[in-house]
Amino acid sequence: MNSVDGKEAVSSSDVREVIVIGGGPAGYTAALYAARANLNPLVIEGFAWGGQLMITSDVENYPGYPTGILGPEMMQDFRKQAERFGTEFITDDVTRVDFSERPFGVWVGDTEYRTEAVIVATGANARQLGLESEKTLQGRGVSYCAVCDAAFFKEREVVVVGGGDSAMEEATFLAKFSPKVTIVHRRDTFRASPIMVDRARSNDRIEFMLDSVVEDVLGTGDGCVTGVLIRNVKTGEETELRADGLFVAIGHDPNTALFKGQLDMDEAGYIKVARPNTSYTNVPGVFVSGDVADKVYRQAVTAAGTGCMAAIDAERWLAEHG
Ligand code: NAP
Repeated sequence: MNSVDGKEAVSSSDVREVIVIGGGPAGYTAALYAARANLNPLVIEGFAWGGQLMITSDVENYPGYPTGILGPEMMQDFRKQAERFGTEFITDDVTRVDFSERPFGVWVGDTEYRTEAVIVATGANARQLGLESEKTLQGRGVSYCAVCDAAFFKEREVVVVGGGDSAMEEATFLAKFSPKVTIVHRRDTFRASPIMVDRARSNDRIEFMLDSVVEDVLGTGDGCVTGVLIRNVKTGEETELRADGLFVAIGHDPNTALFKGQLDMDEAGYIKVARPNTSYTNVPGVFVSGDVADKVYRQAVTAAGTGCMAAIDAERWLAEHG
């Protein structure tokens, strides 16, 4: 049985060698390497498999796709490649894990899967404003990653929402392409470090609208951003700001609720790597890869790279510990 969707079809009675939790670039790459190392991986990929790439349209910075590719298509390719070497899949969410003893327990509802090693690749989600129009225009002018999408906004005006280091960094990066970047922040003081704020302030392509929130994203019928509706939270005044793009930079949430109390995390909830330059966590036999342990790079290619590391670490660890 090589490739099956649905938990009923995958045996839950055997102790597996590796279970990968998460179906994004990190998880599928870990599965590819684990499968090619004859570890018969099971990927519990999540009901909404594919991760953040599923809300990304054109991906032009993943090596190997010289003419670019749509995010969801790229994830299909990743999945297919892991499947080709015998990876099994469950398209559902893990509901509980027990890493207190080996074999480890991983539950999907009432069904328990047991495994000697686990690779955690549950990713992180970019926080959203929660507007209906934001959802409709995702990938059509609404973006959560300036590094990924800034080049699409050459000579176009953009808005960045947020008052943290990410917002300052994204605005400064966007200003290399865009003649006018407006930072919209809900307060008049910043969470960002002063040096990052100063850098943005001294850039004459960057403007600030403080004490302000985005009420709506405006778009044309054919689905392109044309502006944003801003409300000043102190005066209540509403203004329409012309823009071709909206970059939401209000933080990320790592998907780590499942692992609280079992894996060491930093103060923001990202899983900590126990040994530098490896994928080892504090629990021997549990490895981590991708954005769930990375608040710095957050790229598909870096997630895939750490997925590969986790599979190699797991394979070597299993060879040593059986
Ligand atoms: P963050 O520090 O949590 O800042 C999020 C910002 O978004 C805050 O200003 C917050 O406003 C605002 N915000 C949150 N929810 C909002 C909403 N619903 N509507 C409007 N605004 C909202 O997140 P971050 O900037 O992504 O940074 C995360 C961590 O990474 C930080 O530790 C940061 O220092 C680090 N980082 C470092 C660098 C660097 O050093 N180069 C670059 C990027 C990130 P309030 O301030 O009002 O809460």
